[in-house]
Amino acid sequence: MSNHEQLNNILKNYFNFTQLRPGQELAIISALQGQDIIVIMPTGGGKSLCFQLPALIFPGITMVISPLIALMKDQVDHLNALNIPATFINSSLTTEEASERLKEALNKKYRLLYIAPERFYNQSFFKAVQQLPISLIAVDEAHCISQWGHDFRPSYLQLKKFITALGRPPIMALTATATPEVREDIVKQLNLQQPREIITGFARPNLSFEVISTADSQKKEIVLETIQQYPSASGIVYVSTRQRADELVRYLQNYHIAAIEYHAGLSSGERQTLQNTFMQGRAKVIVATNAFGLGIDKSDLRFVIHYDMPGTIEAYYQEAGRAGRDGKPSLCLLLHSPRDRYLQEFFIAGDNPPLDLILDIYEFLTTYPNDHILITYSTIKNALGLDTPDLAVGTALKILEREGYLAKTYEKTSQAMIQLASQDIKLVDGQTALGPKAKKSLEIWEKLYDRYNGKLRAGLYINLDTLANSLGYKKDSLARLLKKLNDQKIIIYEPPFKGTEITLLKRCPREAVNLDYEALKTKLALAQHKLDQMENYVYHRGCRQQYILDYFGEHLSVGCGQCDWCKGGLNNYWPNHQNKISHHASPHKNSFNIQLSTKLTQLITLELYQSGLNLQEIARERQLQSETIVEHFCYLLEKGLITNIDRLIDDNIVTMVQDLLAQKPLLTTNTLKIIKEQLPSYVDWTDLKLTLAYLHNNKSHEPKAS
Ligand SMILES: [Zn+2]
Repeated sequence: MSNHEQLNNILKNYFNFTQLRPGQELAIISALQGQDIIVIMPTGGGKSLCFQLPALIFPGITMVISPLIALMKDQVDHLNALNIPATFINSSLTTEEASERLKEALNKKYRLLYIAPERFYNQSFFKAVQQLPISLIAVDEAHCISQWGHDFRPSYLQLKKFITALGRPPIMALTATATPEVREDIVKQLNLQQPREIITGFARPNLSFEVISTADSQKKEIVLETIQQYPSASGIVYVSTRQRADELVRYLQNYHIAAIEYHAGLSSGERQTLQNTFMQGRAKVIVATNAFGLGIDKSDLRFVIHYDMPGTIEAYYQEAGRAGRDGKPSLCLLLHSPRDRYLQEFFIAGDNPPLDLILDIYEFLTTYPNDHILITYSTIKNALGLDTPDLAVGTALKILEREGYLAKTYEKTSQAMIQLASQDIKLVDGQTALGPKAKKSLEIWEKLYDRYNGKLRAGLYINLDTLANSLGYKKDSLARLLKKLNDQKIIIYEPPFKGTEITLLKRCPREAVNLDYEALKTKLALAQHKLDQMENYVYHRGCRQQYILDYFGEHLSVGCGQCDWCKGGLNNYWPNHQNKISHHASPHKNSFNIQLSTKLTQLITLELYQSGLNLQEIARERQLQSETIVEHFCYLLEKGLITNIDRLIDDNIVTMVQDLLAQKPLLTTNTLKIIKEQLPSYVDWTDLKLTLAYLHNNKSHEPKAS
């Protein structure tokens, strides 16, 4: 019997499948040949079969290392249901249960043994597993070994050591995270020997990827138009902040779109309710921030729109990939405005606080005589006079925690205090203050007054969630009302105090603090690099799906045939394009419109420029602000798409700016102003911007272009 036949027999008899997917077969055969392997497949792509099937052929046991205790039990239950002898050992078992299972494993009762990596720290356990005949070690969720992954687990860093002590059997590393950096890290940290890389299953042929570059102010309209093209389908709109979610939901509701909002500020109960509403089809659109992992698994979503550009291709592809899980054609639309990058840079800054900030915070904490400190982020910021986002303070504390300088014991939310502003305040005073139009607020106030009258006079200390529940309103609405009544001097309201308990573990002078500076620098550089790659996706001139798959290391030999580029939109555009937003590819529009829809707005500007129009004429023609057209030109110049600059920039200005730049090689916002001041007054900001964009692409050339 050939290998192939043998595999197919096992596949059919045990797993009840008839065919292996291409990547799976290669992984299994390589494993049977004793090679080290790295398998990269998306979630749901059939990764587990790559080690489960050879486990039935190997003479020894297959040890599966997995950090996900819940999934471990599921997998083992599933295997047992298929009559495959497997078990797991993790922290959910008692010591007796664990040693019983280990004994059974030594007696060859199991083909597969699932283990949580922390188990290796246990000396007697480790000694016992050294007795096992191990044919393969499968490291699941292998990206947890990479410090640059989102899921880093220190216990994974110890794996190399343990695997060596186990006699270094062949290793199969598996993950769904496929960025080159993480992949390299896995190979290095696990010391894989000339591993065979198997990357497969990332392509989503039913998804149409499209990008529209636009001004921020037009995004709402585009979302509305796109949604209206799907009269009987639902989808997700991702936004980058809660405020944007609020605005967009209100806007869509004004147009009678059943839109709901989903973000980190909601309680788990509220999120559950929203999720049900959406799953049962009672809402058409869910507007969500990415702050929380979405527990939404709805297979018939026809569109996923990104209102803002995310920070990485991974994040984008994961979120966009929620469209069309049922395999039917679906749209993944990304709206991009130049502002998006700044927002992402803001997030990156918060995630990568400067070294001085980390040290400032540490130094400040050491001024407390007691090692246990209950403190809020705003206390820290105020003490240091910092104009820093909370995010950066939080990250700085996290870094100090990781390096062993402190421990964050817990986050604490104290109770809110509510008291009538004076003993004479009556129900009617609140009613008058709120005014007759604030119906909901009035309702809440009346109930609150009615039910807690006596306590309100004395001063009511209560958890806001509890109070909101007991009154039957949302916490947000209640908090808003309380603030308003406080401002109107009807009540005194002290919001709950949100603090963090910190325990200082080491006290030393600032100079002696030893942080991994190199690692911090690398992390920042990597985040910026990923953002660049995300932005390159926006400006990419080629198949979008190919770009994404390239990024993940899987190669698509032909274009996807679905994205805006493949449909000819980027190259083949219409110069008299009038309407700035009516242009989405959609099954309901004819192909002519589809072509229109998908061009980068900058390329339309380029076409008009090439047809002889000047900046003002283009702005008029396109009904866009001239500043927007200037931005388009800057982009086109930077990317080298405009070669003939005669009608755009004066050669003399180019020479002058170039000379000034030679004196001030470091260009910052400030020097921009300095340059402007040194130029003759007839050179305006537009001239300067265009010139700089042009020079950006022609650094090594003479400024004169013809
Ligand atoms: Zn394509």
